[in-house]
Amino acid sequence: MPRIPPRQGPVENLRIGAGQEFPRARIVGIVPCGQLRASIVNPLKLLRRLGPLAAAAMLLVTTAAPAAAHSATNGPDHQFGEMVDYPLVDPVAGDYRMSDTFYAGRSDGVHHAQDLMAPKMTPVVAVATGVVQRVNWSSNANYLNESRCCTIVLIHKDGWESWYIHLNNDTPGTDDGQGWGIAPGILPGTRVTAGDLIGWVGDSGNAESTAPHLHYELRDPHGTVVNPYQALQRASGVTITGGGGGGSGGGGSTCTAIGETSALLNGTTALRRGSTGTAVAQLQSVLAALGYTPGSADGSMGPKTEGALRGFQDDRGITVDGVAGGQTRSAISTIVAAASHASVLYPGAPLRPGDRGQAVTNLQQLLRVAGFSPGTADGAYGPLTTAAVTALQEAEGLTVDGKVGPQTRTALSRILGLEGLAAACG
Ligand SMILES: [Zn+2]
Repeated sequence: MPRIPPRQGPVENLRIGAGQEFPRARIVGIVPCGQLRASIVNPLKLLRRLGPLAAAAMLLVTTAAPAAAHSATNGPDHQFGEMVDYPLVDPVAGDYRMSDTFYAGRSDGVHHAQDLMAPKMTPVVAVATGVVQRVNWSSNANYLNESRCCTIVLIHKDGWESWYIHLNNDTPGTDDGQGWGIAPGILPGTRVTAGDLIGWVGDSGNAESTAPHLHYELRDPHGTVVNPYQALQRASGVTITGGGGGGSGGGGSTCTAIGETSALLNGTTALRRGSTGTAVAQLQSVLAALGYTPGSADGSMGPKTEGALRGFQDDRGITVDGVAGGQTRSAISTIVAAASHASVLYPGAPLRPGDRGQAVTNLQQLLRVAGFSPGTADGAYGPLTTAAVTALQEAEGLTVDGKVGPQTRTALSRILGLEGLAAACG
């Protein structure tokens, strides 16, 4: 794992306001970003504070399908909160939960971001190729503003901006505020390629008392804050090549490929008993590929499919309700993204330091999704990849040799929820 430099100084609360500079003053009593409307915000108070229009928008977003209220356009001009169809790489390279919190009420107005809930130290990557503009709100590479750890602003090469807030500020395994959540070498002015590691999930700033998450904001070239919810949902789709087979020396035999999932993952309607259509058929294929028994992929959600879905939800720690909503889609996108690299999990010769090629690239992608940090997925099994494999082996209580043999493959399959696929396709 990359070394994490120490930092000094108290953690300062950050006030997040639309399109504004961030005051340095300590602000007490702000509604933390990660405590969502259900737990803290009194809807009636909010209604009074925000006025009926904003409250109506909140209600709409809370109760209706999240994307339904917004058109998906990617023209030159955008409106605040517009849902955009912007291509990006998933900023959190690991399992996370997300519901559309763009219009969620906060003490200083509307949230205008998405909160990606993930464990501390889950890798955070560049959503696009570009240049780091600010670190901890400083644009000076020689002054990293350590007391305001840890945030990154990335300017994409097309002029769009991504704001990453609440990156880690703790020593791993603690909540001591003495850690650092920005990857080595990430400074104002650093050029990054989409998918490069830039930091780690944490709870810094005004998220100290909340579950760790990445607060992710997307701005168009005019600085207008748009809603990245759909773009994030789609992000997993960007890396999908559609299927578990293929790749280096992989499988073959009679395993079921995950296949096309765009209707399922890009849809916003919850799928439940009685639902029909392409998204249901794709859900059935995914469940079958993962070793569940949803019945034939006929696009009709009956009791068998619901039962298989409940099994899937139970195994993934999702609320077991037999309804495929945001949580289930999010879990499936993670699996689908991983499945396109799954051939490396099938039985075969061990991978070891010094190896090169597509199998190593696949391994690196999977390590990232599993929450380890193998560096850039460049197909070279170097020191960072070895360290990530070692960390995985230590975490799983395996023999620590830095190589990927049967035990390590099995452990990685289990972490990623791909055991069924690996078993069927091996
Ligand atoms: Zn947030």
